[in-house]
Amino acid sequence: MSGNDVYEVYAIRYATVSERQRKDNFIFVDAHDGPMPIDFYVWAIVGKDRTFVVDLGFSAEDAEARGRVLERSPAEGLKLVGVDAGDVKDVIVTHLHWDHAGNYHEFPNARFHLQDREMAYATGRHMQHDALRRFFAVEPVVGMVREVYNGRVDFYDGDAELAPGVSVHLIGGHTMGLQVVRVNTRRGQVVLASDGAHFYDNMLDGNPFPVVFNVADMLAGHKKIYSLADSANHVIPGHDPQVRAFYPAVSSEAEGIAVRLDVDPTL
Ligand SMILES: [Zn+2]
Repeated sequence: MSGNDVYEVYAIRYATVSERQRKDNFIFVDAHDGPMPIDFYVWAIVGKDRTFVVDLGFSAEDAEARGRVLERSPAEGLKLVGVDAGDVKDVIVTHLHWDHAGNYHEFPNARFHLQDREMAYATGRHMQHDALRRFFAVEPVVGMVREVYNGRVDFYDGDAELAPGVSVHLIGGHTMGLQVVRVNTRRGQVVLASDGAHFYDNMLDGNPFPVVFNVADMLAGHKKIYSLADSANHVIPGHDPQVRAFYPAVSSEAEGIAVRLDVDPTL
């Protein structure tokens, strides 16, 4: 394996909802309810020759419509880890939920990498149902359709290697076409689980997050995520504030915002 195949990986928080409760984050509710805040992230995979961004965050417009606060746009957050969004050539979109697929305009030179099944899900018959549609917003979905017509979307049907050391893996479960990303780093194979596992505890307890298309696929997805990673400590859940406690901030300026994931966590 050449040195080009080893990447640095960063999580960048762009929003947090503090008032969320534990019962909001699991299908099976136990007696120990209490506050359980949720973070919103994008991720950066930085190699010697190529940089990948994972997910697009939510837009300021969609945040306002839903009473959320966009603390910093992905482009602003990426600056903290030395990435200029305008130069990014590859954005992996794990799925098209509203909080993962806004802000196309900040990546004018990117290609977008998406699963076939996610586009089918977000634009097809399942969106007849408000219970499934409510986690999408029309502009992020239309934005991806627009990029298809701009010739800037690469589709996958299952697992695929995007570059030596960077691969996508179809999970489904949370949505029909959710994909996770595996990255080769100096500490081994790290998996960015995105919404394949919102919190560490969803996987550890086998108790899925309640926003789900197919529960069986989500549980099988937890197993697949573990099998793709070098250890449980190499799995990065998609919305867990504990990620910011376990991994070091990239700088004092980025404290509480951007952490480095290609170093061992302090658990
Ligand atoms: Zn989601």
